Amino acid sequence: DRVPHPLRADRSKLYMADLESALHYSLRVEAARASSLSGAQLAAFKCYVATLVKYFPGRPCVQTYLQTLDAWLRNWTEPELPRTVLKEAMKNNRDASHPSVLPTNVTWVGCQGSERHFRGYPCGLWTIFHLLTVQAAQNGPDKELPLEVLSTMRCYVRHFFGCQECAEHFEAMAAKSMDRVASREEAVLWLWSHHNEVNARLAGGDTEDPKFPKLQWPPPDLCPQCHKEERGVHAWEEPAVVTFLKAHFSPANIYMDYAE
Ligand code: FAD
Repeated sequence: DRVPHPLRADRSKLYMADLESALHYSLRVEAARASSLSGAQLAAFKCYVATLVKYFPGRPCVQTYLQTLDAWLRNWTEPELPRTVLKEAMKNNRDASHPSVLPTNVTWVGCQGSERHFRGYPCGLWTIFHLLTVQAAQNGPDKELPLEVLSTMRCYVRHFFGCQECAEHFEAMAAKSMDRVASREEAVLWLWSHHNEVNARLAGGDTEDPKFPKLQWPPPDLCPQCHKEERGVHAWEEPAVVTFLKAHFSPANIYMDYAE
């Protein structure tokens, strides 16, 4: 079941198609699986949308979409939110003077796998959260609410991420060290280093796309200055990694190339 590559994606770029596809899937499919949301699950959903409104650098129609949904959710004060009602609230509105639109199709570009069951959504979700941690670090006071984005991600993954085993692994990592994160910049590094921990664990396994082997990221060809050697052992040059992550996960590095 091979999928032809729609375009030669550049590993040094982010693609808006991946980000919007992951947003569509997470909001309208993954988070809307339960027949209704309530309690901690409803709170996790509201928190995810509020964080996206604050930090997701989307196209104007997508920003409007997220703001409209956030305002609607803030108005929803009943303890239970039925899926049918939520689904209605998540529809696009193209007619308004400020169209509120999040594409309803899924198009993977940078996250396209060599076969259908590889990559795609999980790749898009990681990318969204790296982007959010970096945008929160660039656009907020470093020492205030250092865990704002990471705790949103932790709640999202715990309550909604479809891969149960993944969610348990992530929760174990979070419980071990997330609360030691003391600044927004440390949050960027926490997510980067723990994603690399996941990459190391999954390398060579059967979920690995052979065309996209799991590696310690960013590899030397993407960021030579991120790597160094200490007494013959590989080490990360952390200040260079921070600089790289801030440039990689920036609005200026998001490309509008679409597969269709
Ligand atoms: P991904 O790992 O999805 O990475 C996406 C993109 O992010 C890469 O293409 C690269 O550009 C960039 N990137 C890679 N590493 C880093 C880094 N360290 N920092 C910043 N950017 C980076 N799968 C399992 O089989 N078992 C699990 O336990 C599991 N746990 C997961 C937990 C979470 C929270 C998530 C979101 C996914 C999890 N997955 C798990 C899925 C797995 O991590 C990959 O997302 C999936 O295999 C697709 O891999 P990929 O090659 O597209 O790259």
